[in-house]
Amino acid sequence: MALRNVRILGDEILRKKAKEVTEITPRIEELIDDMFDTMYETNGVGLAAPQVGIRKRIVVIDCGDQPLVLINPVILETKGEQTGNEGCLSVPGKVGIVTRPQYARVKALNENMEEYIIEGEDLLARCLCHEIDHLDGIMYVDKVEGELMEVEPDED
Ligand code: ZN
Repeated sequence: MALRNVRILGDEILRKKAKEVTEITPRIEELIDDMFDTMYETNGVGLAAPQVGIRKRIVVIDCGDQPLVLINPVILETKGEQTGNEGCLSVPGKVGIVTRPQYARVKALNENMEEYIIEGEDLLARCLCHEIDHLDGIMYVDKVEGELMEVEPDED
């Protein structure tokens, strides 16, 4: 298990557009494993490669159903709206209210570079949109309604 350093808001890499992945190399396999380790260790539900300092279009998500690897993800369709609290591992200790689609359908490659479609509602839709935004240098704080709020740290 290897943890990566999560970059914090203000780090310029979080604002850069990430690059398409063209092939899976041992380094990328290791990166994906480390991203899952880092996400689980920090109790996150999603993590994008730029958050660990890598400018590649790779996202990992686990909203409790199944671990997902999304390489070069593209949002195909969204429907509806949901407004609720959102946080980000790159903005520790804060949450803010963000409106996102209620439903999202996304095309991506898995860790074997096989294309698949993932559909999400509620938290998964929010998470897909949030993480894919990271690949274009967009942070949820850009979309927040009102002020960021402090959260109490988890006691575990
Ligand atoms: Zn984030």
